[in-house]
Parts: sequence; C-alpha cells; structure tokens
Amino acid sequence: MDLPAVEILGVRVHAVTYAQTLDLMAAWIAQRGPHQIATVNPEFVMAAQRDARFRSVLNAADLCVPDGVGLLWAARRLGYRLPERVTGSDLVPMAAERAAREGWRLFLLGAGPGVARRTAEILVRRNPGLAVVGVAEGSPADSEADGLIEAVRTAEPDVLFVAYGAPAQDLWIARHARRLEVPVMMGVGGAFDHIAGVRRRAPVWVQRIGLEWLFRLITQPWRWRRQLALPRFVWAVLRSRPGRHETFHV
Ligand code: UDP
Repeated sequence: MDLPAVEILGVRVHAVTYAQTLDLMAAWIAQRGPHQIATVNPEFVMAAQRDARFRSVLNAADLCVPDGVGLLWAARRLGYRLPERVTGSDLVPMAAERAAREGWRLFLLGAGPGVARRTAEILVRRNPGLAVVGVAEGSPADSEADGLIEAVRTAEPDVLFVAYGAPAQDLWIARHARRLEVPVMMGVGGAFDHIAGVRRRAPVWVQRIGLEWLFRLITQPWRWRRQLALPRFVWAVLRSRPGRHETFHV
C-alpha cells in the first residue's frame, strides 16, 4: 500500500486514519515479519532533533502515526493535510476490539506494577474471546532484554504493545525487532495507564478542541520541563521551510 507522508522537522509522519492503521496491522499480521509503528507527537519530533538515533528509528519505522494535534497544525502550516490525529491510547482499545474479532494474539509489555495485567483484564472483559497471550513489566534495560524477548517469542503474539515511554520504547523495539519477530510492534506511551485508570485522560471534548496537552500540563505539572518541547516545536515549525510531501511504500 502506498501511503502519503509529510516530513516535519526531519521526521516523516504518515497521513493515515485509524481505519487505515488497523487495516495495515491486519495486512502485516497476514504477511508476518516484523513491523514497527511509532506514535509521533511534538515531543518526539523535538527529541529527534537532538538524538540522531531516535530520528533514524522513527524514519525507519514502517508507520509513524500523527499522535498529537501539534503535528496536524504543523503539517497544515507546511502546506499539507493530515486526515486525523491517531493516538496510541485510542489505537490500543481499537486494536483489541479487532483482535477479538479476527483472532489476533496480543502481548502487553511495560508500565508500572500490575498495570499491564489490569489493562489485559479490562480489554478481555470488554472484548470476550480476546487472546492476550502475555503481559510483562520489565524495563528497557539491556540486562533484561534476553528474558523479555524469550517471553515474547514463546507467547507468539501477532501484536506487541510496549509502554516504556518515548524514546525508550521505540528504541527498544527497533533494537530487538529481528529477534522479537512480531508482525506488529508499537510503542504506546501511557496507553495502559489510561485504560487501567491509573491516570485520567483528558475528556473527549478537551481532546476535540485540541487541548489535551494543556490538560496534561495541569494534571501532571511535573511534566512542564518535557512540555517545553511544545513552544519550541511551534517556533521551529514557524521558522522552517515547507516540508516535503512524498509517497512512501509501506
Ligand atoms: N515506563 C516503564 N518503564 C520505564 C519507563 C516508563 O514501564 O522504564 C512506563 C510508565 O509507567 C508509563 C509509560 O512507560 O506507563 C510511559 O508513560 P509516559 O507518560 O512517559 O508516556 P507518554 O504518554 O508521555 O508517551
């Protein structure tokens, strides 16, 4: 499938909808072989300015979805339109629903003590018949990689969600993709925290008016340092030249 993409400050972001993302997952599960999805937001783009390794991981990912209203704004500013915001926190429950219908096997990795397990219970309750074939916390440290990779390989999932926060989760997937050999691997940030109710997500109306970032700043004020990336992102986009629009084969 050919997918249009726009380059925002050197990071390629695909113009996809939720429906297309789920269809791509289905295609990759049928096709087998490892595929990586990243949920890119302005914090990712700014981190990628300083971290060449993170930037190359994002640009090598099979799919980079626009998880952040700032990316839709930036694309428009650069003369391009992204169809909708596609968030990891929404993709996880949507993928679980489709997984229950189509028999995809899920593995949930990461987040705090008990959170992945609780997330699995909630997803199974909402989607009877859903196969969650493994949950593990662990950490992205190299010392734990062998054990975690073995656990994933033994469970043979079709989809692996990794909640270690960015960039750790995306670097971890890229580093171990060949050994993991899971058809769909996606870094999901705080998605398990949202599903398990550990952390409250902004109400839908706040998301709709594009202010989820402000909700996070108010409810998690200790993140203000990380969120300085947002004004820096806006400034960098305003100064940048129009991005390239290309069609990438995925
Ligand atoms: N996390 C983890 N191990 C780590 C670092 C983070 O399991 O070594 C988890 C953390 O518990 C949270 C998730 O990673 O569930 C990422 O949260 P964050 O708010 O940073 O993600 P964002 O939503 O900003 O991408």
